[in-house]
Amino acid sequence: MDRNQGRIHSRQVYEATKAALERRGVTTEEVAKIVFEMQIAYNVGLTLEHCIVSVESVLKKREMQHAILVGIELDELAEKKMLSSPLQQIVESDEGLFGVDETIALGSVFTYGSIAVTTFGHLDKNKIGIIKKLDTKVGNGVHTFLDDLVASIAASASSRIAHRTRDLEEQNETFADIEPEETAPETNIEGTTT
Ligand code: MG
Repeated sequence: MDRNQGRIHSRQVYEATKAALERRGVTTEEVAKIVFEMQIAYNVGLTLEHCIVSVESVLKKREMQHAILVGIELDELAEKKMLSSPLQQIVESDEGLFGVDETIALGSVFTYGSIAVTTFGHLDKNKIGIIKKLDTKVGNGVHTFLDDLVASIAASASSRIAHRTRDLEEQNETFADIEPEETAPETNIEGTTT
């Protein structure tokens, strides 16, 4: 018997995640700009390219992929008026007391440690860059889940940068000394293998 029968391959899940973000107008670069803004004050030599690599690494985590797929699916179903009442109205209107969007997004940052959690809280309050654009409902579309998901990707990628800096310091280096691809090696946080 094939034990893997019916199981979706990780690569398919990763590609579906990337496609979903793209479909919703969220580029890696836009998310990386938030990471750069969050981390430039603490990391000598940090560039947008380092941040792009960090965002890409976060998107390879299953925990993050699953949260993104669930959230975007609900936003899209709400846009098509396919949810049942009263959830349809709650998601569509981004009801203030509906916190499931934040809860799903917050749940996905835990593997990146306390810096990811506190950065997520900061971004949830002070929406910047594309998060603000999504939250202010400019144009059409439901982005009830997406704004929080973008905050969680940015927060996790910021935490990776912070931990990488410590590793570099211990080798008497800064981000100015490494190529963007070199931000990808593992950080010291348990469970962040990508
Ligand atoms: Mg929201």
